[in-house]
Amino acid sequence: MSIQPSVLIVEDEADITELLRFALQRAGFEVRTAQSLSEAQQSLKAVLPQVVVLDWMLPDGDGATWLKTLRADERSRHLPILMLTARAQETDKLQGLDNGADDYMTKPFSPKELVARINSIMRRSAPQHVATSTTFKDCVLHDDDLALQKGGVRETLGNTEFKLLKYLLTHPDKSYTRNQLLDFVWGDHVYIEERTVDVHVLRLRKILQRFELEAYLETVRGVGYRWRSTLPSSPN
Ligand code: CA
Repeated sequence: MSIQPSVLIVEDEADITELLRFALQRAGFEVRTAQSLSEAQQSLKAVLPQVVVLDWMLPDGDGATWLKTLRADERSRHLPILMLTARAQETDKLQGLDNGADDYMTKPFSPKELVARINSIMRRSAPQHVATSTTFKDCVLHDDDLALQKGGVRETLGNTEFKLLKYLLTHPDKSYTRNQLLDFVWGDHVYIEERTVDVHVLRLRKILQRFELEAYLETVRGVGYRWRSTLPSSPN
């Protein structure tokens, strides 16, 4: 069992959407779709996916311009985005990349190549979704069975505690609000309350104690939580 990354496809041509849906589902993605920029905007507001495939020409505007507004917004600033277009001109390609696209493909495209490109931009921007294990100090967090391991000691985490720990381990030394953690870790279940985060953090702390890692998970007063890569008093 591992985290299933989600992708939002913003495309108004049904044939292409279905082609993409098929290829991406087969590659292990949870697929959401939007046929216009306003639908895409709504979808992003509800759930932040791990990656977006964005068409250029849409019924209510152009993807490249919308991309610029996404990059100006803190919440979607680092969202990996692959632009898709029927226009093969070099200037268009440059404009797409200038506006903040991580990659760019011209229609017609090979679905296989598109999946490879998406995996590649995700490896660059969201390593927690492709790594099979994460190492911290002398502990290893395994994706396949959600277990935290230190030498011969191995403990299986709940799905949410696993996601939370994985996210924190791969994004150390940054403070996150409960809302940001809800977005990044829970994703699908944004209707849950902020204090739910605290409940899972508490459960996670109990597990971390057994691995002598609890001090690395810090409560940041007035903000939320942070994973420290080192402790102030720690020799390592
Ligand atoms: Ca289109």
